[in-house]
Amino acid sequence: MKRPVCFVCTALLMLALFVQPAAAWDSSVVVFKKNTNGRKTVALTFDDGPHPRHTGEILDILREYDVKATFFVVGENAGYYPDLLRRIVNEGHEIGNHTFSHRCFRKLTVSQMSREIRLCENSLYRICGQKTRLFRPPEGVLPGSIIEYIRKANYTVILWSIDTRDWARTSAEAMFENVKKNVSPGEIILMHDFTRGSHTAEALRMIIPYLIDEGYRFVTVTELIGSE
Ligand SMILES: [Zn+2]
Repeated sequence: MKRPVCFVCTALLMLALFVQPAAAWDSSVVVFKKNTNGRKTVALTFDDGPHPRHTGEILDILREYDVKATFFVVGENAGYYPDLLRRIVNEGHEIGNHTFSHRCFRKLTVSQMSREIRLCENSLYRICGQKTRLFRPPEGVLPGSIIEYIRKANYTVILWSIDTRDWARTSAEAMFENVKKNVSPGEIILMHDFTRGSHTAEALRMIIPYLIDEGYRFVTVTELIGSE
């Protein structure tokens, strides 16, 4: 899944967002990284699944703490594990579009990118009857050429403000320390439910109780951005 370049791509995207003249961007395309309204809420997000082991394990932990999260689903994986997608939805979590096959947009044409978004949308709708308005591009790479399609399709682009780096098999302790050090109201936390050898579940058992003790409320992305 080319994780090592993820950080670089994200940095480039951030740079592009800041250096582009305002007129080059359609202001009706909203890109969220966090909420700045000051409310003590955080959104946990899990990308790339569903996965036969990780997704179930993560769902069990979320249920244990009665925490709702948002899963940015890869359409192809949803097709392999439809029951897991239904479980995500039935347990009250939110789903978002993370393309059909997780190809990085950097190398794709507009028609390939829009097809990736559409196929994922169809897959999610076929399996659980839901349409999502949340879109997260693979590796956080969002070329300007796809903006018009995203605007017309009425998606909100969701990035993140804290990258736990679980995709790099970061230890649970290091992930916990990262969150502890950087958390503030309105953060969107990036994690994955499809990385072999990751310590995501173990880290969640430290991160969730800590944030609850600190007075944070876990919300879905829609709830987080809806109170902007
Ligand atoms: Zn991804």
